[in-house]
Amino acid sequence: MYCRHCGKEVKDKAVVCSGCGHPVEDLSGNIIVGHPWNWFVMIGLILLTLLVPPAGLVFGIIGLLDPAKKVQGAVVTTIAVFMTLLLIAVIAGL
Ligand SMILES: [Zn+2]
Repeated sequence: MYCRHCGKEVKDKAVVCSGCGHPVEDLSGNIIVGHPWNWFVMIGLILLTLLVPPAGLVFGIIGLLDPAKKVQGAVVTTIAVFMTLLLIAVIAGL
């Protein structure tokens, strides 16, 4: 089948397009739920969150919006909120 967003051919069992990253939709137009982030991505996201909390917050929310990544998104968001508060405390000189 072909991606509805960029037209690239994607494998029938693919859940996201390898061309544009959009979720692949089945013939009835339902978006196939994506896979959870693998451990490699999760470690990268947690490191990113520790270094750049606002960026981690963005990815955490993206995760929360995806049913397959909801728990992982919650973990990343929690770390991001904590790090953001810590960053504010450090900047404020507390
Ligand atoms: Zn595409």
